[in-house]
Amino acid sequence: MSKLAIKGGLPVRTQDFPAWPVFDAREEAALLEVVRSGHWWRYSHSTGVTLDESKVGTRSQIRQFQEEFAAHHGVRHGMACNNGTAALDMVVRALGIGPGDEVIVPAYTYIASCTCALQSNAVPIFADVDPETYNLDPACVEDALSDRTKAIVPCHFGGQIADMDRIMRIARKHDVTVIEDAAHAHGSEWAGKKAGSMGMAGTFSFQNAKNMTAGEGGLVITDNAELADRVESLAWSGREKGRPWYEFHRLGWNNRLTEFQGAILRIQLERLEEQNGRRRENAAYLTDLLNQIDGLSPVRIDPRAKTYSVHIYMLRYNPAAFKGLSRDKLLEAVNAEGIPAFSGYTHALYNNPMFRDKAFYAPGSPDDYARFAEKCPVAEKACAYEAIWLEHRFFLGSRKDMDDIAEVFQKVKENVDELK
Ligand SMILES: *Cc1c(COP(=O)(O)O)cnc(C)c1O
Repeated sequence: MSKLAIKGGLPVRTQDFPAWPVFDAREEAALLEVVRSGHWWRYSHSTGVTLDESKVGTRSQIRQFQEEFAAHHGVRHGMACNNGTAALDMVVRALGIGPGDEVIVPAYTYIASCTCALQSNAVPIFADVDPETYNLDPACVEDALSDRTKAIVPCHFGGQIADMDRIMRIARKHDVTVIEDAAHAHGSEWAGKKAGSMGMAGTFSFQNAKNMTAGEGGLVITDNAELADRVESLAWSGREKGRPWYEFHRLGWNNRLTEFQGAILRIQLERLEEQNGRRRENAAYLTDLLNQIDGLSPVRIDPRAKTYSVHIYMLRYNPAAFKGLSRDKLLEAVNAEGIPAFSGYTHALYNNPMFRDKAFYAPGSPDDYARFAEKCPVAEKACAYEAIWLEHRFFLGSRKDMDDIAEVFQKVKENVDELK
C-alpha cells in the first residue's frame, strides 16, 4: 500500500490534465483577420446608424456566429451578447416579467439563474434538485407553483439536460414560460432535441470555464421572432430595427460583444462536437471505474440526456463509506495526488448573504429565504458534503487520465485511517 502524497508519499500524477481553452492557428488566424480588417465592431459607423444589417457591407463575424450557433441547436434566431448573465436578464425582461411575478429556479445552480428574476424586480422561488441527477426536480417545481408564477428556469446542470418532458408538461398545464439556462449545455441533447430549443428561449455562456469560450460572451436562442427582436433591442440600449440611431424604445443596456469574440467563437463551435464526444467517452469509462468504489456515485445520466456536454462531471460522496472522512479532507488528499477535484457550490442559492441581507428590491419576496432549506434538502446536502466536481478539460485527455482519477480515489480510500 503506497503512502499518500499528503503524508509525504509519491503522488499518483505529476502531470496536469489538458489545458483549457483549446486553440491553435485557426483561432489565431481568425483573430488576426479581424484585427487587420479594421472591422472590430458588428456595425460599421460609415454604413449606417441603424440596426438594419442589410445596410452593412461586411459580413459580421458575430452575425455569422449567431446564425451558425442557432442552426446547430435547431432554432431560427440567435442573439449574441456579452455574457450568460446578461442573456438570462434580457430574456426575463423581454418577456415582461416584473414586480410581483415569481420565477421558479433550482436551488443548486449558478447565481445568474436566479438574479435574472431579481434584475427585473421579480421574485425567485427555489425548487430542489433531483437526488440522483442534481437537475431541477419536476415534482419540486409543481410544489413551488403559485398563481404568481410566470416562468421556470431549469439549468441543464453539468451539461445534462433537465427532465424537459415533465417540465414542459407542467409549464403548458399552468401556462408559464420556460427559459432554459443552457450555460453548461452547448450541444447537449434531450431525446434528440438540442439544449435551448425546447423552452421559449435558451441562454448560453462563453465565459472562460464553459465548453466553448472567447474569454467572455453569451447568447440567446429562440424560435420566437418577436422575442428575438426585443432581446436584440435590449442589448442595443433599447434601439429598434429600422428606427433612427438615437431613438430609444425600452430600458436597455449595452450588452454587445466584439467581432474578435465572434471570430473566435465561430472556430470554437467547429470544435464543439468532437470535444464533447471525447468528453462523453472518457466520462462513461470513468463512471464504470468509479462505480466500483463504494461511497462514490457519479450522478445518474438519464438515457434521454445521454448526448451531453460533460461540462461538470459530478460525483456524490458518501463519507460513511470512507469511515466518516469529511469531503474537505478527502479533497485535500485527492488534490495532493494530482487530481484538482473540488467541491463546487458552497451555498444553496438562497443561503447566500445577498438573500439574508435582502440586497435587492423584489416586492412580494419571502421574508426569510433561509426557510427554503426545508424544501431543498438535496441542494443543502450537495453543498454541505456530497458533491464533488471534475472539470470538463480532464475529459479531453486519455483513458490513462481516467485510470489515474479512479486510482487516486481508491488509494485515498485504502489509506483513509492515516487521514483521521
Ligand atoms: C456561467 C453560468 C451562467 C452565466 O454566465 P456568465 O457568462 O459567466 O455571465 C449562467 N448560468 C450558469 C448555470 C452558469 O454556470
